[in-house]
Amino acid sequence: MELKVGEIFECPEGHEATIVWISEDKKVVAVRCPQKHLRKVVKVASARAKEREIYVKNMVFLIEIQ
Ligand SMILES: [Zn+2]
Repeated sequence: MELKVGEIFECPEGHEATIVWISEDKKVVAVRCPQKHLRKVVKVASARAKEREIYVKNMVFLIEIQ
């Protein structure tokens, strides 16, 4: 299967993402997904330390093609 930039590819969380880059050996693709993803949990400085979930849209994932 030949992949092309601009085509739809599944992101690691199962959304429909768009291919934005393909490596020369075609073994790695970068996809950008418009859905929200949990990025990380950060500690927010305050009187009481809190943890907050950060969601990010339009994340780019590198995916190895098997
Ligand atoms: Zn996604």
